[in-house]
Amino acid sequence: MTVTKDRVVSINYTLTDDEGQVLDSSEGREPLSYIQGVGAIIPGLEQALEGREQGENVSVSLSPEDAYGDYNEELIVNVPKERFPEPEQLEVGGQVQAQTADGGVQILTVAEIGNEEVTLDANHPLAGQGLHFEVSIEQVRDATEEELDHGHVHDGSDH
Ligand code: ZN
Repeated sequence: MTVTKDRVVSINYTLTDDEGQVLDSSEGREPLSYIQGVGAIIPGLEQALEGREQGENVSVSLSPEDAYGDYNEELIVNVPKERFPEPEQLEVGGQVQAQTADGGVQILTVAEIGNEEVTLDANHPLAGQGLHFEVSIEQVRDATEEELDHGHVHDGSDH
């Protein structure tokens, strides 16, 4: 069966960065199942898998623009340490949540911890990275009405 809109696609994948370092992989886990065409996975990958067949292996390389965007220096902010309720809990590479002006929640990465200030980076952790996927298409099936209604795959376990 062909990968196309409204079908449930199960893939095994390995994701590496430009240096060949593994960022994520389904190895040792269940394949990732998603519904094609509903924006459940990164758009460049979804596009590359469209029209492929069950059993195919697909290599996909995405430029930063097609992945999580270019790295933006303006998204780095310094915040006085006293603004954190528990500054001793912070660690470089860890993540903190901040409230945005419109009431949303933003995830920031702790880039640096100084004596007075903490440097936070609001870029996506994969911003500026090219992404390289090695994908094997394990299974393709039609999504059920209910799955399409919910916009996600029902695999019989969690919901
Ligand atoms: Zn559901």
